[in-house]
Amino acid sequence: MSSHAGSILIIAAPSGAGKTTLVRALQQARPHIRHSVSFTTRAPREGEKHGEDYFFTTEDDFLARRDAGEFLEWAEVHGNYYSTSRIWIDEQIAQGADIVLEIDWQGAAQVQALYPEAVSVFIAPPSLEVLQQRLQTRGKDSAATIERRLAAARSELAHAGQFQYIIINQDFELARQQLIGIADTARCRFLQQAALNTSLFQSLGIL
Ligand code: 5GP
Repeated sequence: MSSHAGSILIIAAPSGAGKTTLVRALQQARPHIRHSVSFTTRAPREGEKHGEDYFFTTEDDFLARRDAGEFLEWAEVHGNYYSTSRIWIDEQIAQGADIVLEIDWQGAAQVQALYPEAVSVFIAPPSLEVLQQRLQTRGKDSAATIERRLAAARSELAHAGQFQYIIINQDFELARQQLIGIADTARCRFLQQAALNTSLFQSLGIL
């Protein structure tokens, strides 16, 4: 399979927009899509698993890996470092896998520059009030953290314009369908289909 077979789906959102739930729903509907596990220096939240939700690490380890070139992109978000593993992405691309990256706008810009064919999606909340409520009822973070995240949410929202697609997560089912639709559409692009169905395309005289 050629390197064009897989698509890279970049998904960003302010905290509380429902990104993680939507991405989970996408993966349930399209189990072939692989999820990149990021590195972070933030502490694990209750129920989060090392190697599944994140690779939790120290600042020293993170900076050493960054300086060794292990990261495809990295950013400081809410006072913690986050990054995407370059090795993992290279492996997935070599295998022609479809992958999804849940990263912030800074990481999204870096990945889009490296992979212009990547598809970027921004998940927006239906209002700032709803976002605030969702952050408060999540109950896993302190009041100070919630305040900081709300401020960060405003700056994340200010970058929504750099994304190709935007989904307003008001009606979850509709948002879920829209995200699945974008992933399916990305897979239907000519280069992806030509790589996935090379012999068919040859027999049809397309290639
Ligand atoms: P959280 O701590 O709530 O899981 O994530 C906080 C923010 O960091 C979110 O906007 C999330 O998308 C972003 N983030 C998570 N992983 C990465 C990553 O690997 N790279 C970048 N740039 N941002 C990330």
